[in-house]
Amino acid sequence: MYPASFEYFAPSTLEEAISLLNEHGDEAKVMAGGQSLIPVMKLRFAAPSVIVDLNRIPGLDHLVERDGELVIGALVRHAACERSPLLRGRYRLLGDAAALVSDPLVRNRGTVCGSLAHCDPQGDWGAVMLAARASVVAQGPAGSRSIAIDDLLEGPFATTLAADEIITEARVPDPGERASGTYLKLERKVGDYATAAVAVQVSLDNGHVGEVGIGLTGVGPTNLRAGEAESALRGAEPTDEAIRSAAASAAEAAQPQEDHRGTVAYKRNLVRVLCERGLRTAVAAARAGEE
Ligand SMILES: Cc1cc2nc3c(=O)[nH]c(=O)nc-3n(C[C@H](O)[C@H](O)[C@H](O)COP(=O)(O)OP(=O)(O)OC[C@H]3O[C@@H](n4cnc5c(N)ncnc54)[C@H](O)[C@@H]3O)c2cc1C
Repeated sequence: MYPASFEYFAPSTLEEAISLLNEHGDEAKVMAGGQSLIPVMKLRFAAPSVIVDLNRIPGLDHLVERDGELVIGALVRHAACERSPLLRGRYRLLGDAAALVSDPLVRNRGTVCGSLAHCDPQGDWGAVMLAARASVVAQGPAGSRSIAIDDLLEGPFATTLAADEIITEARVPDPGERASGTYLKLERKVGDYATAAVAVQVSLDNGHVGEVGIGLTGVGPTNLRAGEAESALRGAEPTDEAIRSAAASAAEAAQPQEDHRGTVAYKRNLVRVLCERGLRTAVAAARAGEE
């Protein structure tokens, strides 16, 4: 199906883009990679009368470490994350996830920030950013504000962004040398959304768990944080038993629904298995950094 007709703007500055959004309110939509927006417009699930394309705005494609954070600009594509040498080692969680987002066509165009703004419960980046304790910078007519990822993701396809705010960056705190993470995802075939997926980030401090983050994909109304599992592990020795028990707690935190990808029990068990594997992998890699 063709999308409903719309007016197209390709501003060359962020200020101009925000002013267009401010002028047109709920009628307008930002476009970054277009990999979610265009399909929903073609299916007529959305019919914005104004599209504000960010792609001609310079200076939004930075993927750099700055002031103790990894900074991901609004036009950084999934593919750039997949290829970046920065997203190995202690930021491996992000590199692992990038390679599992859809297929190369989508990864070449789709953006990390667009994915966070789209807030699909099946989207991979929300869980990753929860585990990494990331934040986003949102810029609107009144200036910019930082939003912790837990405060951004509101529900299925809903965030706390105002209609005239643009995510200019996602910021991931440096987890330190003795840290690692990973993203494990089960998909029915390459390119599919997750049946379920788990993002894990762990740092070690004298052989004990320092900070830990666990984010879940595809098993709730939005990406979920497994908070009780995190609390149980923080400060503990990462023994087999502690990891098994945290993974069981993460499975309890999941809120899956039965669909063509699996039953509730199957998805919950999948979260447990992926979480256990992810924690073991992250702890082993963090230990290698500790030596
Ligand atoms: C076939 C297919 C398979 C896919 N599989 C997966 C998958 O396995 N895992 C996964 O995570 N994703 C998947 N996706 C979605 C893909 O990752 C998208 O790239 C992503 O969800 C949206 O990023 P985008 O840059 O394309 O955003 P767009 O499509 O341009 O925009 C999406 C929404 O976000 C808003 N938006 C975009 N950028 C900003 C910004 N900077 N500030 C404020 N609002 C903004 C738009 O207004 C729109 O509402 C798939 C998509 C397709 C077409």
